Amino acid sequence: MSVNIADYNSVNTPTWCPGCGNFAIHTALKKALSELNITPSETFISFDIGCNGNGADKINTYGFKGLHGRAIPLAVGAHLANRNFTIFANIGDGGCFHEGLDHLIHAIRSNYNITILIHNNQNFALTTGQATLTTPKGKPMYGLPFGRPERDLNTSQFILNLHPTFYAKAYSQDPLQLSDIIKASIEHNGCSVIEIMQICPTYNREFTPEWASQNTKKVNTVEGYDSSSIEKAIEMVKTDSPTYTGILYKDSSIKTFYDSLENRKDTKTELVDEVKRQDIKKLLRFFQ
Ligand code: SF4
Ligand code: MG
Repeated sequence: MSVNIADYNSVNTPTWCPGCGNFAIHTALKKALSELNITPSETFISFDIGCNGNGADKINTYGFKGLHGRAIPLAVGAHLANRNFTIFANIGDGGCFHEGLDHLIHAIRSNYNITILIHNNQNFALTTGQATLTTPKGKPMYGLPFGRPERDLNTSQFILNLHPTFYAKAYSQDPLQLSDIIKASIEHNGCSVIEIMQICPTYNREFTPEWASQNTKKVNTVEGYDSSSIEKAIEMVKTDSPTYTGILYKDSSIKTFYDSLENRKDTKTELVDEVKRQDIKKLLRFFQ
């Protein structure tokens, strides 16, 4: 059976602002999944609170919209329950780098076989544009006319210093490149982190196509670039002039969390099947 991109269309109409980068990100995701012939019924996406989270019912897959900052543990739970699914955690820069930062660290460290899509639009957009740690220091934002006073944090460098097994950077308005990166992340056996610079024409007018054409460069156009060198990848994200997009780092030599579990070594079944064989009536009564 061949999967069509339209199989991922939802009956619900998106409510994002015109020109929002979430449209292109969803298109790239649907394109990647359909081209790999993965069906909607084999796909699970967890969604955070935020504008990207408002896309939870706009794509036809299994999904769960959780509390702010908790998209990653939800994705991890779904993955550990049934590894036959292709799993994504959809999270914004607010949820990822504020409320849920601990989850990002542990997902990378544990190397769960999931893909984390960070929609980085440099603000808490759903709540009308408050500053996040990715908003440039001093940029006036809602409730902060003089901008946030704290120092900036280079999120790419921070993530790469955690030694992820897959790290890529993308621009929302280049859905073809993003789709190729997502396909590679699905094929990667481990935790893939894709940081997407997402245009938000309502509250962040930074990531315009004009900005991208002058300030981004595809890493695969850099002669001799070696995506197996963590030192090289960290070097590439030291400054944002230019910002490199594409797969900056990949390491296939590290075992996933599940593959490291000695007690699951020879198990052929999934936890979701095993739990069906347990009588949990007594346990449920305990919570009634
Ligand atoms: Fe998209 Fe920004 Fe509008 Fe949210 S506020 S829907 S991120 S354009
Ligand atoms: Mg945001």
